Amino acid sequence: MKKIVVCFSDELRCAAALVAHAEKLPGETVLWVPGGLDGFPAPDTGAKKIIEVAFDNPAAAGESLVCAKALFDLFDETPDVVLTSSSPRGDALAAQLSLLLGGECVTAAKKLLWEDDAPVVRRAVFAGNLDADFAVGALPLCVSLLPGGEDARPVDFPAVTSRTAHAAQPDWLTDIETVKTEAPDALTDAKTVVAAGRGAGNRAKLETLAALADALGGVLGGTRPVICDGKLPPERQLGISGKCVSPALCLVFGASGSAAFRAGIDGSKKLVAVNRDPEAPIFSACDLGVVADSGEFAAALLAALQKQQKSRKRDFKESVWTKSS
Ligand SMILES: Cc1cc2nc3c(=O)[nH]c(=O)nc-3n(C[C@H](O)[C@H](O)[C@H](O)COP(=O)(O)OP(=O)(O)OC[C@H]3O[C@@H](n4cnc5c(N)ncnc54)[C@H](O)[C@@H]3O)c2cc1C
Repeated sequence: MKKIVVCFSDELRCAAALVAHAEKLPGETVLWVPGGLDGFPAPDTGAKKIIEVAFDNPAAAGESLVCAKALFDLFDETPDVVLTSSSPRGDALAAQLSLLLGGECVTAAKKLLWEDDAPVVRRAVFAGNLDADFAVGALPLCVSLLPGGEDARPVDFPAVTSRTAHAAQPDWLTDIETVKTEAPDALTDAKTVVAAGRGAGNRAKLETLAALADALGGVLGGTRPVICDGKLPPERQLGISGKCVSPALCLVFGASGSAAFRAGIDGSKKLVAVNRDPEAPIFSACDLGVVADSGEFAAALLAALQKQQKSRKRDFKESVWTKSS
C-alpha cells in the first residue's frame, strides 16, 4: 500500500502524528512537504522518505485547488492513501486530491484504523455527539485528520528529496475571495434566536428575519433544508446535526418541528412558532403558536418593533430635552 502524508511547512509539528496514523496501515509512507522545509531540519517522523516541494508560483499554490493539482502532477505512482492535517486548507486539499485521484474522501477524521484488511475512518457525527466508523468503499482514500489520536514514533532520519511543482492557476479561476467565517459560538451564546425553516421563504424574506433577529439583539439560525439550500452558512444550522441552543427566547418561522430540529431548540426558555399550517407538529412543542404566513408575520413584527424602538428614542430625547431646558 502506498501512503502519502502531506504536511505544509508551517504545520510540521503535526507531521509525526500524521505519519503514526499512516503507519497503522501496511506499506511505505512518504512525507510530502509543500512549501519545503524552509531551512528547518527534516522532522524525525518515522516516514522513510521525505519529499519537499517548492512551487514555481507560490502565490497561486496558496489556493488548495492549485496546490492539489500541482502535487497530483508530481505523483509518480497513484497513492492508495493520502493524509493531511485537518484545517480549512488541509480539508480542502484532501477533498481536491480525492477528486483528482477519483477516490474517496473523509475530512476532520479522528482516527485511521486497519480492520479486516481494509482502512476504516473514525469521525464525529451529529455535531460531535456520536463517533462513527466508516468502512472505506474504494481506494484511493484521502483523509484529513484532527490533531491527537496517535503517538508519534520517531525512527530513522530520512533523506530529503527536493522537487519543484508547477502551480498553474486554471484560466477559469479568475478571482479568489477569502471569506471569513463568524465566531463559532454566535448562535450558541445568543439570548434570542430566530430560526428560519423551509417555509420562511426566499432570501429576501430571510433578510427580514435577519433584521428581526438584529432588532431583538439575537442571531438568525435555520433548519437543515435552509442550510442545504445555501441560504445560511453551515455554522447557523440548528438541530441534532447542527447547534443545540438554550436562549431565553426562540422564534421559529416556517419550520414543521421535526425531532431532529427540535433537539436543537428544545432548551429554549420560551418558544414561539409561526406556521401557516394549524396542524404543524411544532405547535405541540411551543409556548405560543401563531397560525400565519411567515413572511407577512415577520414583516409586521419587525415594523412594530422598529416603530417601538423609534418612539422609545423619541421619548428619551424629549425627556432629556425637558430636563435640561
Ligand atoms: C440524520 C438526520 C439528521 C438531521 N439533522 C437535522 C438538523 O440538525 N436540523 C434540522 O433542522 N433538520 C435535520 N434533519 C432534517 C429533519 O428531519 C427535517 O427534514 C427538517 O428539520 C425539516 O425542516 P423544515 O421544518 O424547515 O422543513 P419542512 O419539514 O418542509 O417544513 C416546512 C414548514 O413550513 C411551513 N410553511 C410553508 N410555507 C409557509 C409560509 N408561507 N408561512 C408559514 N409556514 C409555512 C409548512 O407548513 C411546514 O410545516 C435531519 C435529518 C436526518 C435524517
